[in-house]
This record gives sequence, C-alpha cells and structure tokens, in this order.
Amino acid sequence: MVLERSRKALIIGAGPVGALTALSLHRRGWEVELWESRDDPRGKDTAPSNLRSINLAISARGLEALRSVDPSLAEQFQNEAIPMKGRMIHHVNGKQESQIYDPINGQCINSIGRPLLNQRLVESLPDAIKIRFQTKLSRVDLNNKIAFGSCPEKKDAIPGEEHDDGQIGGGDHGKSAGRAQNAKGEDKEDESGTPFDLIIGCDGSWSKVRTSIMRMERMDFSQSFIPHAYIELHMPADPSKPGGYAIDKNHLHIWPRHSFMLIGLPNKDGSFTLTLFIPFSSLSTLTTREAAGRFFVEHFPSAVQIIGEKRLLDDFENNPRGNLVTINCTPSAWSSHALLLGDASHSMVPFYGQGLNCGLEDVRVLSSILEKHKIKSTTSLRMGETDKDLELALKAYSVERQEDLKAICELALQNYTEMRSHVLSPLHHIRRFIDSA
Ligand code: FAD
Repeated sequence: MVLERSRKALIIGAGPVGALTALSLHRRGWEVELWESRDDPRGKDTAPSNLRSINLAISARGLEALRSVDPSLAEQFQNEAIPMKGRMIHHVNGKQESQIYDPINGQCINSIGRPLLNQRLVESLPDAIKIRFQTKLSRVDLNNKIAFGSCPEKKDAIPGEEHDDGQIGGGDHGKSAGRAQNAKGEDKEDESGTPFDLIIGCDGSWSKVRTSIMRMERMDFSQSFIPHAYIELHMPADPSKPGGYAIDKNHLHIWPRHSFMLIGLPNKDGSFTLTLFIPFSSLSTLTTREAAGRFFVEHFPSAVQIIGEKRLLDDFENNPRGNLVTINCTPSAWSSHALLLGDASHSMVPFYGQGLNCGLEDVRVLSSILEKHKIKSTTSLRMGETDKDLELALKAYSVERQEDLKAICELALQNYTEMRSHVLSPLHHIRRFIDSA
C-alpha cells in the first residue's frame, strides 16, 4: 500500500515574502515550517518613533498578490496604508509642485511602515504553521533535503544588530533588533537537522539558501552596487497641523537635487519617514556636524525648517548607512528541492518602489503554477526522493519569472536618475506615471 503524506515546505525568513509564502502553501494544504533569525515581531509596538522603519510603497501589484492568498489581508493593508496620489516636488526655493500619477483614474501607491506590514503578515499565520524565531539556517544538505538551524544558547543573552547579512556599515533595511547570542557570541546548531520536501529561501539579499543552490546548480548570478548610500531620517508630527501633517499627507515627497535626493513617505501618526540617497563619496566629505548642517541648510532648507536642525543632524549622525544593490540569479530553483523568492532571488534598488511588490507577486505566480501543474498537497514519495512533477513546476516558475524580474530590476535602476533629476525637467509630466506602476 502506498502511503500518502503531506508535502513539507521549510521556509527560511519570515520577512513579508516568507510570511506570505507560508500562508499561501498552508492554504494549499502543505505542511509548513518557517524559520526566522530575528525575534518574534507579534505584539510589538510598531510606531514609527519606536523603531527605525523604512516605509514601503505598496502598489496594485503587491495588493493583488495579497488578495490572491487572502482577500481580507489586502483590504486590511489598504485600510492601514496612506494613499499617495502623486509626487510632491520640493524645489530649493521652497516651491512645492504636485505631479499627480493618474489624473484620469486616480490610481495611487500606498505608504505603509515595514514593521507594521511584517507584523501583520506574521500575525495572520495560523498555529498549524510551525514558526521558529531566533532560528537561523546555518547549513543545508540539499541532496538529502535536510536543513540545520542554529539558535542562541542562552535566552538571556545580549541582543544585538545582526551584521552577518553582508550589509556594510550595518544597513539592515530598517528592521528591528537582531538575534540574541550567547556570551561568546556563538549559536548552537541543531544536530539532528530538519527534513523537508522543498526548502524556500525567502532570506533576503544575502540568502544562505541561494549560496547553497549555487553549489549545486549552474546558476547565472550578478550583483552590483550603485554609488549611493541611503540614510533614514524622521520628520516628526506637527501638533499644530491637521492630523499632524506638516506637508501634504497624500503625496510621495521628493527633494530632487540631481546627484542626491531626499524622499518622504507619510505615517499614520502625522510623521514622515525620510530617506536621504547620497553618493558614499559625497558622504565622506560630511565629516563634521557643522559640515552636515551646512549641507542640509543649503540643499534642503524646507526640510530643516520643519524638522529642526538638531533632530535632523542627530538622525544623520546616528543612523546607519545602507547599501543599494541589484542582484539577479537564474534559475531560481534547483531540482524539486529548493526555490528562491523575494530579495533572495532578485534584489533591486528602491527607486521604482517594486522590490517588495515583486516579492509578493512571486508568491502569487508560484501558487498559480503549482495549480497549473496540479501539484497536490500530498505525496507518496519518501522524504529525500526527487519529486519529478514538482521539479517541472519549479522550473516553469523560474522560466516564467526570469524576464519580468530582469526587466523590473532594470526599470528600478532607470528610475534612479528619473527621481533625483528628471522630475525637474519640463518633460516630467510624460514620465510621472513611471513610479506609479
Ligand atoms: P527581507 O525583507 O530582507 O526578509 C528576509 C528575512 O529573512 C529577514 O526577516 C531576515 O531576518 C531573515 N533571514 C535572513 N537570513 C536568514 C537565515 N539564515 N535564517 C533565518 N532567517 C534569515 N519595496 C517596495 O515594494 N516598495 C518600496 O517602497 C520599497 N522601498 C524600499 C526602500 C529602501 C530604502 C530599501 C532598502 C528597500 C525598499 N524596498 C521597497 C524593497 C523591499 O524592502 C524588499 O524588496 C523586501 O523587504 C524584500 O522582502 P523579503 O521578504 O524578500 O526579504
């Protein structure tokens, strides 16, 4: 008698893409286990003033992906997000110029705090999904489909920012505290290992799952940095203004200055999360607080006036400098055993606002391909055996996504010049639809 058992997916990374993947496969009937190296975000305070937090622009692409897994999720995020109907260009002389994205149909992009989005997605996961926080994938035996996780030896150890994710200077994409470690800074590896049918790397730009696949597969891989760093700054709410918004709530604010720029996205509490994009070479000239102060007053006088020089310079001095990288890899799957989704498979510069949106779209496309290939939630194969049907489905996924992902990474790079420079040109009205995709 052939015994049927559930297919088991082990998902690495409970960022937004990992959490949505877990929910999607669970809904398809798979057994799902999720490992996340950081702490459990559930029940934590996600207010922008309590966490460094990048805001994300969620677009129709991301909302459609959320809706495909659970329509109530898309609705919930739409309610929590702030619609941005266009760009507001801030000129040096203080003039503000609104460029509406879609004057005819009124389409918007939506601002939402990353910690809130991530928290809500993790909170939506049912108990049937086994989630292990503070568990880091340390190695994976892809041939035998066994993963090894490591956990901190002592629970009362010192929490610290995680710096082993390849980000120079501790740029951590704005996430909260890192993993705890024991007094010696060592983690303890789970010796028995965890078997799986499919391991899915949703472990971000510096993916360990990807490194493991690269040892097995002739994967084409490219990684390139742009010369710019990003630094997060904060514009507090102004209690004297309606809703606390010192500048218009329903715009993506841009202070374009050609080789550098400042952008601002609204938060629910009336504050704005600002991001300065500036070449590392220019940054290296701002070595003193006075030099930084002169820089902000000369180029962003309106922002200085609202935020106050002290607050702005405190953030500028204290917040990490993040890198901006483009990563492409093809194929994004190996055999029936391993798959990459989200930033693990495609990192892009943030100027098109599509990194996360595309990662969420990966989940939707994967689900539709599993459906098309009639991949059931159960299998009669023993753990460790190659699953030919699943292998074909993963190959089809990789082929289907390849060109779209390359294209969007390219568009994101092109929008890099668009946002910091071209928006100032008289042709901007032709181009303004670009970042509303
Ligand atoms: P991540 O969010 O990186 O999550 C990966 C998870 O895996 C993390 O929780 C990490 O702790 C965990 N992990 C890593 N290694 C391991 C391991 N070995 N074991 C266990 N867990 C592990 N995108 C948009 O769509 N719109 C925007 O407006 C936008 N703005 C951005 C602005 C900036 C400045 C930046 C830098 C990016 C922006 N992005 C935007 C891109 C977006 O942030 C990413 O595309 C998105 O976070 C990718 O999600 P992910 O789940 O794939 O990876």
